[in-house]
Amino acid sequence: MSLIKPIDIHAHPPTEDYLIRSGGKYIKHAAEYFRISIKPRSIEEMLEAYDRAGVDRIVIVAWDAETTTGLPKTSNEYIAEIVDRYPDRFIGFASVDPWKGEIAIRDLEVAIRDLGLSGVKFQQAIQAFFPNDRRFYPIYEKCVELKIPVQFHLGMTGAGAGVRGGDGIRLKYTRPIYLDEVAADFPELTIIGLHPSWPWQEESIAIAMHKANFYLDLSGWLPTYFPETLVRYARTLLKDKCLFGTDYPFIDPERWLYSFNKLGFEDEVKELILEKNARRVLGI
Ligand SMILES: [Zn+2]
Repeated sequence: MSLIKPIDIHAHPPTEDYLIRSGGKYIKHAAEYFRISIKPRSIEEMLEAYDRAGVDRIVIVAWDAETTTGLPKTSNEYIAEIVDRYPDRFIGFASVDPWKGEIAIRDLEVAIRDLGLSGVKFQQAIQAFFPNDRRFYPIYEKCVELKIPVQFHLGMTGAGAGVRGGDGIRLKYTRPIYLDEVAADFPELTIIGLHPSWPWQEESIAIAMHKANFYLDLSGWLPTYFPETLVRYARTLLKDKCLFGTDYPFIDPERWLYSFNKLGFEDEVKELILEKNARRVLGI
């Protein structure tokens, strides 16, 4: 265990820029729903939490849902600046707003080629789109061209949870099965489905079993609360396809790892999930 250098595949900046300015009511309501504090912290405080947990590297994601939320983005430039400050700790993932069309494609190209980011993340619930909508296929074509992995949110989201109308968010966009079509149409594209995809866990497991280019991230939930089927597949048939992630600052890395160790996975499986699978997906 001590030789493992964990890589967190999915985290957010804990700063005011993301949590308050970009997050607005969506993150405020998510925090209330999860009963957690969203007091902004610095990147240095974030790194202290990762040092305490013994986590080596962290994928940190930008945020752009300007069309649907009207809130300012946490830009790709902002993330690139964090990566430049701590290049041996952070791996930056871009965010582009799919409704911006040509601009989204140009933003992605700049983020990868000029800013040095390594992937892109989508949040279909808040960005309000079906990932298999052909209008967005040019973005995936660009991902293939740039040879970058792409992350999609899966399952119930805390954003808008617990308030009337769920802040207008539709859960339908987060069903895993739409990504099966994207994985089929873009075999060269590496897709990471984020979070245990409740209430469609079996759906995402089936896609991960069937499509070699589809991976499951385990962030956003403490492992002790994972659906039982997910634990069973992560331990066995999908041990090469599951990735450690926290969704920091919503879950602290030390807490996640403590909970994960309680599952009693073999050392070989832990090494795959905590480090090796991420190295393969990220090409590092
Ligand atoms: Zn997240």
